[in-house]
Amino acid sequence: MSDVTCKKFILDLLVDYEDGTMPAEERALFQQHMELCPPCLRFLTSYQATGKTLKLLKPEEIPPDLARSVLAFVRSRAGKKT
Ligand SMILES: [Zn+2]
Repeated sequence: MSDVTCKKFILDLLVDYEDGTMPAEERALFQQHMELCPPCLRFLTSYQATGKTLKLLKPEEIPPDLARSVLAFVRSRAGKKT
């Protein structure tokens, strides 16, 4: 799995994972991937940190501009080599 595909895979699954709507089997695969793939684990960690910050705000208090900034931030973090 290439790095780019990996991040796309993670982005696609992250929402379901965080929502708790991910089927148990898929969730196990996702967690297994996190153990095997440090870059994705770092991405998940930063995503969760960002998500927690956002959950402190009521949805109606999040300006669309901020939501876009956060998305851009998460995406730029995902693209960075550390
Ligand atoms: Zn990965």
